[in-house]
Amino acid sequence: MKERCIVCGTETGIDKNTPVNERELYISGIGQLCYKCHVETTDPEMAKRQRVNEEIRERICQYQQR
Ligand SMILES: [Zn+2]
Repeated sequence: MKERCIVCGTETGIDKNTPVNERELYISGIGQLCYKCHVETTDPEMAKRQRVNEEIRERICQYQQR
């Protein structure tokens, strides 16, 4: 089983058994993102255009400020 992106639901190609500390684009307490959503959620302007889920975006921003 592959992990799916929490934002768009696309398969990320990352196996569910992969330890979270070895994953790319995994956000602790939130989940796995695909590359596209990672870019969109971390760029506020792009996120606005793409209407990325506000709640997820806020949680990612909070995470990054730690
Ligand atoms: Zn995605």
